[in-house]
Amino acid sequence: MTVSIALFTQDLRLHDNPALHAACTAGKDVVPLFVLDPAVASAGFATPNRSAFLADCLADLDRSLRRIGGRLIVRAGTVADEVMRVAAETGADSVHVAAGVSRFARRREARLRQRLGPRLTVHDGSLTAVPAGWITPAGKDHYAVFTPYFRAWAQAERGTPLPAPRRLSTPPSLTSAALPTARPASPRLPEGGESAGRTRWRRWSPDAYHELHDDLAADATSRLSPYLHFGCLSARELVDAATRHSGPGAEAFIRQLAWRDFHHQVLAARPAAAHADYRTRADQWHIDEEEAQAWREGRTGFPIIDAGMRQLATEGWMHNRARLLTASFLTKSLYHDWRIGAAHFLTLLVDGDIANNQLNWQWVAGTGTDTRPNRVLNPLLQADRYDPHGDYVRRWVPELAHIAGRSVHRPWLLSDRPAYPAPLIEPGALSGRIRHGRNLNGR
Ligand SMILES: Cc1cc2nc3c(=O)[nH]c(=O)nc-3n(C[C@H](O)[C@H](O)[C@H](O)COP(=O)(O)OP(=O)(O)OC[C@H]3O[C@@H](n4cnc5c(N)ncnc54)[C@H](O)[C@@H]3O)c2cc1C
Repeated sequence: MTVSIALFTQDLRLHDNPALHAACTAGKDVVPLFVLDPAVASAGFATPNRSAFLADCLADLDRSLRRIGGRLIVRAGTVADEVMRVAAETGADSVHVAAGVSRFARRREARLRQRLGPRLTVHDGSLTAVPAGWITPAGKDHYAVFTPYFRAWAQAERGTPLPAPRRLSTPPSLTSAALPTARPASPRLPEGGESAGRTRWRRWSPDAYHELHDDLAADATSRLSPYLHFGCLSARELVDAATRHSGPGAEAFIRQLAWRDFHHQVLAARPAAAHADYRTRADQWHIDEEEAQAWREGRTGFPIIDAGMRQLATEGWMHNRARLLTASFLTKSLYHDWRIGAAHFLTLLVDGDIANNQLNWQWVAGTGTDTRPNRVLNPLLQADRYDPHGDYVRRWVPELAHIAGRSVHRPWLLSDRPAYPAPLIEPGALSGRIRHGRNLNGR
C-alpha cells in the first residue's frame, strides 16, 4: 500500500492546498503531519500570540481531518528528522510540502531534499496567489517597484483553486503527540483556524473597502491577515473570489493581496532583507531606549500613535493605517532604527510575518521599496484625516475618552489638561529629526 506524507507548514487548511491535494492523489493512505520544531521557538518566532493562534489552527485542522476519515499527526523535533521517522514508520514513498520564501523555510526544504531526494515534492501556489519568482522583469530576479509588479501580477496565470479532499485515511497505528496549547499575551486575540477564517471571510464584504479601508474607526478591513499568515485561507482562493465579486471595493482588496505577494517575492529574492536594509541609506539612527519604550507602551503623548500601540497590545493586531503611522513616527519622527519597531511588532502581531512585517517596516523607514523614501507621515494631519471625529483614539486611549471631537488628537492644547503623557517630541518637530545632515522637514 502506498503512503504519502502531507507536511503542513504555513498552509494549515484543507481547501486549495496543493501539497495536501497531491498527497491525496498520490497515496492510498495519507499522513497529515505537523512538526513542532524547537528551532522556531529558539529563533524567537513562537511568541505567545502566534503560538495560541497556531494551537487553534492545529485543533481545527485535526477536527476537519477527522470529519473526512483522517487525523492530524503532530510530532515534536527537527522537521527533517521527524519526517524521516514517520516515513520509516509508514513506508511512505512521497512527501509533499508547500514552498516557502523565508530563509528558515528554504533551509527546511534543502534539508528535506537532502534526506528524501526525489521522494520530496515542493509545491508552489500555496503561500501566495502568484508564487514568488513566477513573474520577473527582464534580466532581474524580482520586482523592486510595486506598480509594474502589480501590472504583471494581474496578468499572471494563477491556476484554479483546488477543492478540499472529501475522504482521506491515515494509518491507524501512527502515534501523535498531543495538540499544543498556549496562552496568548493579548486578551482579545482572534480565534485561529481554517473554520474561523472561512467564517470571517464569508461574513465580510469588500463592497465598501475602497472607501473605508483607511478609516481607522470604521474598522472595515477584512482582518484576514492572521488566517493568511498561517495559511488557514488561500490567497489564490481569495483573489479568485474577489475577481468574481468585482467592483471598486473588490479591486482595492485584490490590490492589497498583491502587495502581500509583492513583499514575498522581494524576500524570496533577497532573504537578507529580513534583517538588513534592502536599500541602505547609511542612516545613523537615533538611540534612546526610554523613547523606544514609551513608543512600545503607547505613552508617546501623541494619541493617534498611542491608540495604535494599545490596539496592538490588546488584540495582537493593528489597523494598517495605524501601522503606517506608528512605524513612521518611530523611524521618521523619532528617527529610530526600523529593526527596533519591527521586532516589537513581531513580538505581538498574530499575523507577524517576516515578508510583510520586515518589508513594510523598510518601506516606511525609507530603506525598502518605497519610491519616495523621504516621505514623513505627520501623525496630527493623518489623525485629522483618518480619524476625523477622534473615535479611534477614544476607543483605545481611555484617559482621553471624555474629550469630544477631534480635539482629542491634541490634548496639549486643552485648557483643562487630561492626565496623559506630554508629547515625547515637540509637535512642531514631527516632520523628522536630522537625516543625512539635513532635516527631513519640508522635503
Ligand atoms: C509597519 C507595518 C508592518 C506590517 N506587518 C505586517 C505583518 O507582520 N503581517 C501582515 O500580514 N501584514 C503586515 N502589514 C501589512 C498590513 O498592515 C496588514 O496586512 C493589514 O493591516 C492586515 O489587516 P487586514 O487583514 O484587515 O487587511 P486588509 O486591508 O483586509 O487587506 C487584505 C489582505 O491584504 C494583505 N495586505 C494588506 N495590506 C498589505 C501590505 N501593506 N503589505 C502586505 N500585505 C498587505 C494582507 O494579507 C491582508 O490580510 C504591515 C504593515 C505595516 C505598515
